[in-house]
Amino acid sequence: MHVVNIRDDEVLRELNLYPLWVRRDAPLPAQPAVGLKPDPQGAAGLVGRTSVRQVVADWATLKQQVRDCSACALRAGCTQTVFGVGDEQADWLFVGEGPGAEEEARGEPFVGQAGQLLDNMLAAIQLKRGDNVYIANIVKCRPPANRTPAPDEIATCLPYLRQQIALIRPKLIVALGKTAATALLGRDVPLGSLRGTVHDCQGTPLVVTYHPAYLLRSPAEKAKAWQDLCLARATLQPSNHGTER
Ligand code: URA
Repeated sequence: MHVVNIRDDEVLRELNLYPLWVRRDAPLPAQPAVGLKPDPQGAAGLVGRTSVRQVVADWATLKQQVRDCSACALRAGCTQTVFGVGDEQADWLFVGEGPGAEEEARGEPFVGQAGQLLDNMLAAIQLKRGDNVYIANIVKCRPPANRTPAPDEIATCLPYLRQQIALIRPKLIVALGKTAATALLGRDVPLGSLRGTVHDCQGTPLVVTYHPAYLLRSPAEKAKAWQDLCLARATLQPSNHGTER
């Protein structure tokens, strides 16, 4: 039986992950067979419409473009844009929906309660914000009352994320929640049906999991999110997978 190679129980308890996240005897989800099976519909995703490999701006230009953007109505209602944070050459890219009030105030994604849970999720797979990890959102401006961004707002903002992806060239994208998954894959289907598969986002493997804010409301689903993280880690680091502690 495959056993997840995890950190010590004490650490997991400290992270408030144990035992919901980790069952040491839990079998890992099925791994992609040989290489990645491209998801044919993935290529039709919004990111897929323009090659994510096509770099048209450097980091400084792109950051300035986002700061100056007023292409949709969201900008008028927020105090500052939230570009993204982390290692600009990261293997891992985590994509959320859009900034909330705390993120807007600090100019950094995922710094509120959901962000704390995301940090715990990262730690559970031996990752750390900023260290081989980049975190971004589908939209860079906080939607009013934290509503879901509208399709036209997503379509307007998505080219910025495409450029971030092109610059970072991550080895894996983790879509956090339905908005991110739908935007990146161009498939408006229940999130559950996208889990457990390694999708293709214009040449970059993409794994879908629940949004941390949803997990805060539905902690019983953390076990499934843990499976998704295992799939993500196994996709990126197949050789580190299935080792007894
Ligand atoms: N939720 C998101 O999707 N992104 C953030 O940055 C914060 C909360």
